[in-house]
Amino acid sequence: MSKPLKLMVGNWKMHGDLSANAAFVAGLTAEVSELSCRAALCVPTVYLAQMQDLLAASPVELGAQDVSAHEAGAYTGEVSAQMLRDFSVRYAIVGHSERRLFHAETDALVAVKVQRALAVGITPIVCVGESLTEREAGQTEAVVKRQLAAVIQANGHCISEIVVAYEPVWAIGTGLTASPEQAQQVHAVLRTQLLAASSHADRVAVLYGGSMTPHNAADLLAQPDVDGGLIGGASLKAPDFLSLLKAASR
Ligand code: PEP
Repeated sequence: MSKPLKLMVGNWKMHGDLSANAAFVAGLTAEVSELSCRAALCVPTVYLAQMQDLLAASPVELGAQDVSAHEAGAYTGEVSAQMLRDFSVRYAIVGHSERRLFHAETDALVAVKVQRALAVGITPIVCVGESLTEREAGQTEAVVKRQLAAVIQANGHCISEIVVAYEPVWAIGTGLTASPEQAQQVHAVLRTQLLAASSHADRVAVLYGGSMTPHNAADLLAQPDVDGGLIGGASLKAPDFLSLLKAASR
């Protein structure tokens, strides 16, 4: 069986504006038809409608950066999975470390958000990763396994429908990157955990995220259990994101 195409996902975080977004897509779409990888952009919620239009004719899919744990109701400021679906959202990042840190998201809450996304056909990109203190204390494996276990427990056999992103917190936005060997080691742990939960989990893409750039992407993506990337800073400029897509298309 041939290996599935790599999946490269940009996380724009709280960046972008109407004119910059249009310029980005214009720069991207001229070349993107040549690629042999899967690609998506997770944009701020307010730009979903604009990006749905701009990306309609391109193979780049649309993603959100979060999803509500509630189906509907009196939850001011929240955006439901069904609402995201109305804008052709294909992926939603869930449990990003910035949400775990700044919005006190727990493993249990992340697991419910995954359920909400799956219920409407959105693929959740479940982020797991250890802090520097946890890595230095030798807790990396225990932390990522605990975070993923909560999602597995709540989602049962649907677990083969998720994407996992290993994002060491100390590497996000810092310019520090896990070495290819460090990434591979954790990805292998996550793969084993997924396969123990479902025999179909071999189809789950496990992405690496944390200061991935056009310079380090090829070595990271060459690891056997690195199925793609979740990219913050280097997804903000079309030429950088294109270089990353090309690195994943080899
Ligand atoms: C991220 O926010 O998911 C991320 C990986 O950011 P960066 O690439 O900037 O480290």
